[in-house]
Amino acid sequence: MHSGSSLNRRSLLKAAGTTALAAGAASALASPALAGGRAVPEEEARYDAIVIGAGFAGVTAARELRNKGLKPLVLEARDRIGGRVWTSTWAGEQVELGGAWLHPNYELTYKELNRYGLKTISDAAPEKAIYPTPAGYKTFAPEEIVPRIGAVLAKVFDGSRQYFERPREPLYRADLLKAVDPLSLRARLDALKLSAEDLALVHGELATYAGGDSRDGALTALAQWWALCGWTHEGWAQMSAARIEKGASALVQSILTAAQATVRFNTPVTAVADDGKRVVVTTASGAKFSAPVAVVAVPLNMWKKIQFSPGLPKVHAEATQEGVGVKPNAAKMWLRVSGDVGRIVVQGNAGDPIAAMVPHARLSNGDSLMIALNGPGLNVNDRASVDAAVKKFLPQTRVIDMKVQDWVNDPWSQGGWGMRRPGQMLRQLPAIQQPHGRIAFAGGDLPSGWIGSFEGAIESGMRAAGQVAPLV
Ligand SMILES: Cc1cc2nc3c(=O)[nH]c(=O)nc-3n(C[C@H](O)[C@H](O)[C@H](O)COP(=O)(O)OP(=O)(O)OC[C@H]3O[C@@H](n4cnc5c(N)ncnc54)[C@H](O)[C@@H]3O)c2cc1C
Repeated sequence: MHSGSSLNRRSLLKAAGTTALAAGAASALASPALAGGRAVPEEEARYDAIVIGAGFAGVTAARELRNKGLKPLVLEARDRIGGRVWTSTWAGEQVELGGAWLHPNYELTYKELNRYGLKTISDAAPEKAIYPTPAGYKTFAPEEIVPRIGAVLAKVFDGSRQYFERPREPLYRADLLKAVDPLSLRARLDALKLSAEDLALVHGELATYAGGDSRDGALTALAQWWALCGWTHEGWAQMSAARIEKGASALVQSILTAAQATVRFNTPVTAVADDGKRVVVTTASGAKFSAPVAVVAVPLNMWKKIQFSPGLPKVHAEATQEGVGVKPNAAKMWLRVSGDVGRIVVQGNAGDPIAAMVPHARLSNGDSLMIALNGPGLNVNDRASVDAAVKKFLPQTRVIDMKVQDWVNDPWSQGGWGMRRPGQMLRQLPAIQQPHGRIAFAGGDLPSGWIGSFEGAIESGMRAAGQVAPLV
């Protein structure tokens, strides 16, 4: 068990080469539809499916299509794989600029790790924790604070054993969900009439998951995590139990390698047209690719940037307008701070400019490397502002250097991890999982199970491949 602490990935953070075609081979492949009746060159019929996006969902869909004997083409806007997963190096350490941690109940992810022989590692347990109280921030021993947080969270998610009787089939008790799905996390906290002390212990964490404001996150989004974790705080605390030793991008790469896909980087898709027989995909450069089917595995927030014809079904269109990837606060910040701050975790209060911090490593020169998530109003590009925000919790230290990945202002995600808004599960979930003609949708923003996770992205990639494969 991870440190016996509730101080997990979400509570604390909450936080390439491939088989690319050779340069110059990116010429447009005219689709049969556009070929104006002329003979179809052989290369045009090369791909059985086009997968848009090379994150966990896209590479999984590509690999599953390959396993069904089909040839996938992957089109990726960035110059790298991984999307909201990005393993890099900074300050001499391997750093995850996006998703990092695994819960032991990530069944699909662990299956993939085993398949490709990738190992996981765990971080040392925190020694102390700073939490807000009505009298200001206080430092606690984990064994004191963890049970107190657990007791409050159990109240927040009370009822979820009934309404999420089957955590991986969230709509199994849709009848019971009608009363809870419209509730925001904030509405639930208000209804519970918690003491000021209890509220301070959990509000910051819940607001962080919702992108900075607990009114934006659905109670059911986090209650489903609670259910997937086994309805206990011990389970919840396991959300940061492990990370992938070689980095999360290593698993994305392994899956993509197995897909034996042709991958084109720097290839943003601007339009996807389904003429009933084939799907024609247009890129920003005007190149066109076609295949019998396509899987759209870009972040749900990005669907609205692609022109679909026929147009997106009503619920898909609504979902992408509302967004599922959290906003406006989803920057992952790696901070090199002066001195040895110890293995300390920090949870800010709702509205604090630093939402949460977790320790990562002690550097050889004695400085410490910490991971933080931003809260409302922080200029994440200004070290002095970040330093001032950190000093609120750790007055003795100084931010010497930082590496920040702001997923909300990232052009290809325009939001952070997936987290449904109030009412979105019942209004949108079943419909957005449905294909639109020859086009299926995948992503960590729309799984049945773990939303906002690797596990959810893998689940959805498998589903989408299964939906389109029979149409080829
Ligand atoms: C800060 C942060 C922390 C997180 N922490 C965790 C964690 O600890 N554990 C966990 O399990 N999950 C975590 N997550 C969530 C997890 O990273 C995501 O759920 C998952 O990686 C999403 O995968 P995806 O394939 O659905 O989307 P993405 O990874 O976003 O992949 C989509 C791909 O589509 C591409 N794309 C976008 N538009 C276009 C276009 N027009 N044309 C072509 N390509 C396009 C993008 O460049 C991207 O590569 C975190 C996320 C963030 C942001």
